[in-house]
Amino acid sequence: MPMAPYAADEANSRGRRYQESGSRFRGEYQRDRDRIIHSTAFRRLVYKTQVFVNHEGDLYRTRLTHSLEVAQVARTVAVALQLNEPLTEAISLAHDLGHTPFGHAGQDELNACMRDFGGFEHNLQSLRVVDELESKYADFPGLNLMFETREGILKHCSTKNARELGDIGERFLNREQPGLEGQLANIADAIAYNNHDVDDGLRAGLLSLEQLREQALFGPQYEEVRRLYPKLEDRRLIYEIIRRMIDTVVTDLIENTQRNIEAAGPRSIDDVRKAGQAMVVLSDEVYEQHVALKRFLKKNLYSHEKKLEMTRRAQAIVRELFQIYIADVSRMPDEFCGAAQQQDETGKARVVADYIAGMTDRYAIAEHERIAG
Ligand code: MG
Repeated sequence: MPMAPYAADEANSRGRRYQESGSRFRGEYQRDRDRIIHSTAFRRLVYKTQVFVNHEGDLYRTRLTHSLEVAQVARTVAVALQLNEPLTEAISLAHDLGHTPFGHAGQDELNACMRDFGGFEHNLQSLRVVDELESKYADFPGLNLMFETREGILKHCSTKNARELGDIGERFLNREQPGLEGQLANIADAIAYNNHDVDDGLRAGLLSLEQLREQALFGPQYEEVRRLYPKLEDRRLIYEIIRRMIDTVVTDLIENTQRNIEAAGPRSIDDVRKAGQAMVVLSDEVYEQHVALKRFLKKNLYSHEKKLEMTRRAQAIVRELFQIYIADVSRMPDEFCGAAQQQDETGKARVVADYIAGMTDRYAIAEHERIAG
């Protein structure tokens, strides 16, 4: 399948930070994807919370399966729009590498711990993981990914951080967009979690079909599937509804983006970057329904009393681990302790944050038990 002229093309890439020779068998974005899959941070995603802590049940999404679902949604759209599929996949698989244990509860608490030391932001941390923390290659630090992959991973960024990041931060200062593959991975993330969180929420019994029927994305699909298959059992009914919901939103995304691309007429990735606004977006109507569902999940699932119990416990674990390590860096493994000892207070706190952010849920729980419990 030929790529469109506005897709990212390795021939016109802004390249890698450290010069490397090409591969005989793989394209450059394929290599990026493969490096991400071989990274330690990627393997850890299997034991990191998406919404439910991993040990709460075997069937809930983890950060790993979430990332795979994001990649699946994004690749479908990438192929339909003739974008760069391996790049889209690479960004999707890497987008949550910087996530702390315990999902957003962990991220918010670590950010609070880091308030006086520059804060903690999981999206920026994903870039830090691929740029610096994964050290596996003899010739360079990090994974040395292509500019466009890194650009797609860094979804948002404060002006202050953007200034410190050099070329990758420039677009936030110049108010430019990332390439279409980056825009796509970003919206595919939201599509994936909106849908799989409905499934997981129902499975956990924290959401009900009655509540969801009020939702503009869910309700009409529910009526339709009930009408077509009146005897369908609940589990299959839910799968069938969610599959149709994903199809509705993804179809809208493809068609609306096609319209936006036609209207803006970009002829290169630089035209895409310089366009005033993102092109890979849902239509107004579906966007509204998508946001309504997101708000519904925030109110009814992410803030459910059962979730809040987990949140409070997770926050206490992260906070106490941070306090213990910052007071005595020798309680961290040698490599982190050694790195922390060479730093001032701010640098030391960053090393502690890197260590905690890299933990899986179960490792953080065990480690907390061991040193604080
Ligand atoms: Mg995500």
